[in-house]
Amino acid sequence: MAPIRIDRAELRLVRLPLLAPFTISTGTMVDKTFPLLILYGDGIEGYGEAVCDPLPDYLDETIAGTMALLRDVLLPQMVGASFESPMALEKLLLPWRGHQMAKAAAEMAFWDLWAKSLRLPLKTLLGGTADSVAVGVSLGIRTIEETVERACKHHALGYRRIKLKIMPGHDLALVEAVRKALPDASLSVDANSAYSLADTATLQALDGSNLEYIEQPLAWDDIHDHSTLQARLSTPICLDECIRTVADARKALQHGAARVINIKAGRVGGHLESRRIHDIAAAWGAPVWCGGMLEAGIGRAHNIHLSTLSNFRKPGDTASSSFYFARDIVNEPLEATNGLMPVPEGPGIGVTLDWKFLDQVTVGKETFAA
Ligand code: MG
Repeated sequence: MAPIRIDRAELRLVRLPLLAPFTISTGTMVDKTFPLLILYGDGIEGYGEAVCDPLPDYLDETIAGTMALLRDVLLPQMVGASFESPMALEKLLLPWRGHQMAKAAAEMAFWDLWAKSLRLPLKTLLGGTADSVAVGVSLGIRTIEETVERACKHHALGYRRIKLKIMPGHDLALVEAVRKALPDASLSVDANSAYSLADTATLQALDGSNLEYIEQPLAWDDIHDHSTLQARLSTPICLDECIRTVADARKALQHGAARVINIKAGRVGGHLESRRIHDIAAAWGAPVWCGGMLEAGIGRAHNIHLSTLSNFRKPGDTASSSFYFARDIVNEPLEATNGLMPVPEGPGIGVTLDWKFLDQVTVGKETFAA
């Protein structure tokens, strides 16, 4: 197979309104703004979405920093160059420190291009076989009454796991109320780093609620304190923000900081690093699942393909697109039925851009040619 030459690239900034505001411990989102990368080569297009937020409130990466690295460094290096595989492209990305979200957009767009050039679904090249993946839903912070109602609604829709966003002062009573309404449901909580070891007693009080895991209770960059906390909890800790490389995953597993790992390809530099994290977690007997960043259709389709790998043993965040958006930027509906999301069929990620709508929600566009 001849290497693929990247003839041209288009970097867009897209702003898609959310159906309802989404609140977590760090703040509220009212729209989903994200960089979208389109790579052109061999007469084919490959698509990638970056998962950064406008401000550094989830991790330290931002839209401005991601766009700058893509614009000033990565795309000028990539356009006009030829790559025989994603592994070849990764060599170009690796020397730059951090910026996993910018690297992921480039790496994932190339995976799509590469898979399409081979006329194979992305999942086949990643090593997955499933035709559908189990999905859960992530409920943002609302009142206890609203959250109970929404949890029951989504449980009835067949979602395989209900995740509740929590923060100090909005935790024990919330979990107790949802658990009472849904005694047998698979429940988890996600604190997005809102607690410290001083809150150990509160987090220990969650041990009685039969949660699948407590996600990222402590600081976004602190694996060490999570290992201290895990030793004091019976509920497994799942790490999200702390895991940005396979080395982070190895350290977390080796030191007992987590028993479950949330993999977001967009957070860890793309599919190759996701697969390494998937594999090292499997070696430790730790299940992984695919987290979400409220992705639009391109990122969501990538996540669905990745979730077909065998150690994705817990339901992911890849809920129906219609849960978040009135209209998505892709033509194919990404909708779960009874908690199962079908893997889009066809070469690459299996979805196509709705160019007309994409133009309406594009707030910036830059092109790069060889
Ligand atoms: Mg999370």
